Amino acid sequence: MSNLKDFIEKKMSMSHIYQPVMIKTLLENGGITDKKTIAKNILSYDFSQIEYYEGITNNMVGHVLRKNEVVLKDKNNYKLKLFEDLSSTEVPELIALCDEKINEYIKKRGAKIWEHRRRNRKAVPGSTRYQVLKRADGRCELCGISKEEKALEVDHIIPKNNGGEDSIDNYQALCFSCNANKRDTDDTDFRNLSVKYQARKPDCIFCNISRKIIAENELSIAFYDKYPVTLKHVLIVPKRHCNDYFELSQPEINAMIRLTHILKEKLKTQDKNISGFNIGFNSGEDAGQTVFHCHMHLIPRRKGDVENPIGGVRNLIPGKGDYK
Ligand code: 5GP
Ligand code: ZN
Repeated sequence: MSNLKDFIEKKMSMSHIYQPVMIKTLLENGGITDKKTIAKNILSYDFSQIEYYEGITNNMVGHVLRKNEVVLKDKNNYKLKLFEDLSSTEVPELIALCDEKINEYIKKRGAKIWEHRRRNRKAVPGSTRYQVLKRADGRCELCGISKEEKALEVDHIIPKNNGGEDSIDNYQALCFSCNANKRDTDDTDFRNLSVKYQARKPDCIFCNISRKIIAENELSIAFYDKYPVTLKHVLIVPKRHCNDYFELSQPEINAMIRLTHILKEKLKTQDKNISGFNIGFNSGEDAGQTVFHCHMHLIPRRKGDVENPIGGVRNLIPGKGDYK
């Protein structure tokens, strides 16, 4: 006893909850148990997984069973209708019938029934996974939660079986919940996602850009502005046609920001005089937007290119740059 107590109290250096959960499981099972039982106990602490199945319970199975008037829902509780009317022999009979249905289904469909939850994890090699998580700074690229709080997964933005590439540009780090929400959608929705990103407008100049593309990733491209404000003025645009900044999806914003970082390095290497940038979107005619395919201006600045640069983008209202 004292050795184990000493270990738990003083020696056990924890990088997760695994050690105490495993010891506790062994203690609860007479000192010996199989790895599956230990794994199940660890799982019972993983709220991100539980949250996922709570979502399934409420939105899928609970919904169906309520519609069929099998169960009632009261806040967080589900109640089997007419449970009180069941006799003590009927209950085990019904449990056995459920077991029969579960086993029948598993036998028919095999491991495939969990495939939707494995798909991405399997497809992404470890080194790529590391790069994606590093690029995302260890946070979910949709909700921003850190990997310490929720397990992060590497996800195809455009699903592979809908034409999405196996390139780092088509990956994003998503927490378990954000990814689960995406996975809850069926195949039709996934198809819609890739169709959505393919949207182009025939008469739009940026959908049909004839200029040389100087940088590109899965969802965005960059080219030089035809009427540059300064030398090497670049426009970064989503490949999908949309009117302005507010119509961008989070993966598109991420893609455009990533391209900006690449372009910053590229332009600064090409032109050592570049010592700053103005970066911005015009949204709406009254704000000066003239091309209604969303675009981000990346305007290189050089020392002395205007007499008084103070205020930068504040100068779009003349005289308001210098506020002091
Ligand atoms: P906005 O005023 O809508 O924010 O910016 C539109 C930008 O598109 C302007 O900076 C303008 O110079 C640029 N532009 C307009 N037509 C073309 C074009 O045909 N090709 C390129 N590369 N840029 C264009
Ligand atoms: Zn367009």
